Amino acid sequence: MKLLVVEDETKTGDYLRQGLSEAGFVVDLARTGLDGHHLAMTEDYDLIVLDVMLPDVDGWRILQSLRQAGRRTPVLFLTARDSVEDRVAGLELGADDYLVKPFAFSELLARVRTLLRRGSAPLLANRLELADLVLDLTRRRATRAGQKLNLTQKEFALLELLLRHQGEVLPRSLIASQVWDMNFDSDSNAIDVAIRRLRAKVDEGFEPKLIQTVRGMGYALDLPDAG
Ligand code: CA
Repeated sequence: MKLLVVEDETKTGDYLRQGLSEAGFVVDLARTGLDGHHLAMTEDYDLIVLDVMLPDVDGWRILQSLRQAGRRTPVLFLTARDSVEDRVAGLELGADDYLVKPFAFSELLARVRTLLRRGSAPLLANRLELADLVLDLTRRRATRAGQKLNLTQKEFALLELLLRHQGEVLPRSLIASQVWDMNFDSDSNAIDVAIRRLRAKVDEGFEPKLIQTVRGMGYALDLPDAG
């Protein structure tokens, strides 16, 4: 799951990025309204955390522009002003929820999870599986044939993506955009390295092999062809 955080205050932005990354999300952080607007219009995010008070383009205008362009990405806005008018304005412009600063991180995380669940229920099954490989998203646990796999956060995100798209060939560019943040250098071989490590954990010592390399195209998670 990939989130965009638009927040100009350095400390708050860093804190949100770190906390949400630790909670297992891939996070892009925009520190200006213009950057945030650009990313929100051009990239696919599962949710946007949007600060209202930004020095260049404020959160309301970003939200309005997104909705006018038909982008339905759930938006949780952050407001420092606890005025009724503000909240009403935000919700009328198409925000999905709001949080008044200062807030506890646990509260933000709970709101984010609720919005994601509401936004795309079928995508948020608690459990993804293929053959005897099981990913428990609630407990953030992966098992193969009942044995626990020790995955890093990146490996977990990668496996989650592959499982959500099982049977499809995923190009490196798509993997990069969904599992790494915007600072990722897609020319690097980090994806191949990550796949190799993941494969060692998921497939070594188990049958059948599930992670397939599709030469010149990318990777797929699938049962091998019976023939
Ligand atoms: Ca601000």
